[in-house]
Amino acid sequence: MSGLEASPAAQVIVALTAAVLYTATYLSFVRLLRFPRNWQPPSLPVSLATGVLAALTVALVALSPDGLDSTALAISIGFVVVMAYIIAAPAIAFRPAFRPASRMVEFLAKHGDYAGLWLLGPALLAGIAIPNLKLQAVLATSMAIELTWFLRLRWTGRRGRLYSLKDHDLSVLETQAKGDLVAFRRRHGIRELVLSKDAVSWRGCGKSTPPCPFNLYVNRLGLNTAPCCREHLRELCHHVAASLRDIGVVHWLEGGSLLGAVREQGALLDWEDDIDISVLLDGDMTWERLAAGLVERGARDGYFVDPFEKKDFISISFDPPKRWPFGWERNRLRGEIRADIAIYRPATNHGETVLRRRSRKGAMPVAENGGYGVQQEIVLPTSTVPFLGGDVSCPNQPEAYLRVLYGDFNKIEYTYVDSGPAEARARIDTGGDPLVR
Ligand SMILES: [Zn+2]
Repeated sequence: MSGLEASPAAQVIVALTAAVLYTATYLSFVRLLRFPRNWQPPSLPVSLATGVLAALTVALVALSPDGLDSTALAISIGFVVVMAYIIAAPAIAFRPAFRPASRMVEFLAKHGDYAGLWLLGPALLAGIAIPNLKLQAVLATSMAIELTWFLRLRWTGRRGRLYSLKDHDLSVLETQAKGDLVAFRRRHGIRELVLSKDAVSWRGCGKSTPPCPFNLYVNRLGLNTAPCCREHLRELCHHVAASLRDIGVVHWLEGGSLLGAVREQGALLDWEDDIDISVLLDGDMTWERLAAGLVERGARDGYFVDPFEKKDFISISFDPPKRWPFGWERNRLRGEIRADIAIYRPATNHGETVLRRRSRKGAMPVAENGGYGVQQEIVLPTSTVPFLGGDVSCPNQPEAYLRVLYGDFNKIEYTYVDSGPAEARARIDTGGDPLVR
């Protein structure tokens, strides 16, 4: 050894720098996961920043005044890549239309609370076998981050209130569990399910706990949305509707929420995973005014508003992020109680006025100049419909709107639920009749 790294103090400083660089890479990466979690392609600047930080970490570990340590290079690259895959799995699997093309992603997502700790053994072995203080610092830092993540989730996960599961919720659960709730709970790691001799209960989520991973429970296992999550979705829906009224923007219930309001007499679909509301930007109602109004009201009432301007999309979450540096880590969670706000603008399509959106929704037809459009008179002037215990704005012709999206909307479609669990629950949802309620 020669030069700068000969001094023990200098070696410690370089090792600490490697630890800081790894932490910065981690934070940038969990920030990047905001995009897949909101079903958006990753942003180029955040991807580049994450890539540069990762490259700097690996370079610092592998390079020294003595040259390149190729073993440390290979191990640090392998470790960072595998860890990134583990950390990203819940966000990738979060997409409701996600089908387990990769069973590994689904498996890692399911164990996302602690899957990072599975690298503890390999990290220890590498740390002992390779006397590279910078590599050891990176491995130790990553394990400390994973352990903190796991412990924080365990600590906050136990505080929720207990809900009794009954009626339809219970029959769906029992059907999916094929009658053996204990085995089902164990097989799928459903910690919220509390079984006692004479009651089946659900340990509910709240603002101070992580949300139930209901993307897993609802879409993969075919359960009903948990009672706690339904309660929070209702609260969130009324916050968003009140905010939009207050801002004075034309808006209406969209997609599954409108379907619930019309077909289920003002209730959520039993397997609902978000609230859908659309807004019309027209005249002096601009993106800036809408986003600023929602951000201000969200902050006041304890919700988190995340605008994606380039995508014409705003997501509003029930639980606000934790303080920095833990705020972005929420992107590692499997569940999220969220309202999705899609933007429409007036446009002309083959000579008629339509309201046009950028992203696909149901079977809404493609408009001539891009995007997807619905005839203006189906939506405007908006009307109201009872939904979740209040009156919420809806399209002028809600049934015609639903036909544009879903065709025969009285036929139950489990759009995002896996086919096996969907078939199993169909019998209960229809009371034994063909798939029509
Ligand atoms: Zn919940």
